[in-house]
Amino acid sequence: MNLILLGPPGAGKGTQAKRLETRHGIAQISTGDMLRAEVASGSEIGRQAKSIMEAGQLVPDALITEMLGRRIEAEDCARGFILDGFPRTVAQAESLDRMLAAKGRGLDRVIELKVDDAALVERISGRFTCAKCGEGYHDRFKRPKVEGVCDVCGGTEFTRRADDRAETVAARLEAYHRQTAPLLPYYAAQGRLVSVDGMAEMDEVSRQIEAALAR
Ligand code: ADP
Ligand code: ADP
Ligand code: ZN
Repeated sequence: MNLILLGPPGAGKGTQAKRLETRHGIAQISTGDMLRAEVASGSEIGRQAKSIMEAGQLVPDALITEMLGRRIEAEDCARGFILDGFPRTVAQAESLDRMLAAKGRGLDRVIELKVDDAALVERISGRFTCAKCGEGYHDRFKRPKVEGVCDVCGGTEFTRRADDRAETVAARLEAYHRQTAPLLPYYAAQGRLVSVDGMAEMDEVSRQIEAALAR
């Protein structure tokens, strides 16, 4: 099963992608996580991407498409994948269609998480992550069960993203509306788009996604 999770920054793509990965045994591919790993390692890609990401802009299509193309060849994608944060432009979507066609594969569903901009700002500004295992948390909506200790791995260090500041969030939302939202009619025309209420609480969003996949 090959899926795309589509939605603005903070919509819950990473949260839901992790759940789909566990439930269906398919690989989560987050281009944002991949880029942050490149930046942390100081690689050539990371050097090119760093300032663009900090400004809340999109990294050039060619760089992203190349990185993604290599990633979906990996062993763990054999049973399928969930793309989280890719594609983000119509050009990326067209590249993906070509890449999959060349491999005799295709997309099953594109799931849109619908969330209001006002709610996104609150979600992004409260977001933090376990430094050890990457589990996502939120100051208000998902605190660790024991204060300061990761539910999943017991880690005690947490990080916040450099681009989750209020100044950058506005630029990221603008980039979403201008460059990524045109993918909604693109996938609707292919008959693959399903929209889910991303304003609901996390478990309810998961239920709606599973219901959409069962249809
Ligand atoms: P969010 O989960 O908040 O939507 P991501 O982690 O997906 O954010 O992305 C963080 C940043 O990485 C983006 O603002 C952008 O600069 C870059 N990025 C991630 N995926 C892509 C992509 N497919 N195309 C271009 N830039 C990307
Ligand atoms: P994205 O990957 O789309 O940028 P995340 O999955 O990282 O979004 O979610 C953004 C923040 O909002 C995280 O702190 C997460 O814990 C929280 N969150 C995710 N889904 C929901 C939800 N349905 N209701 C409230 N908070 C949520
Ligand atoms: Zn952890």
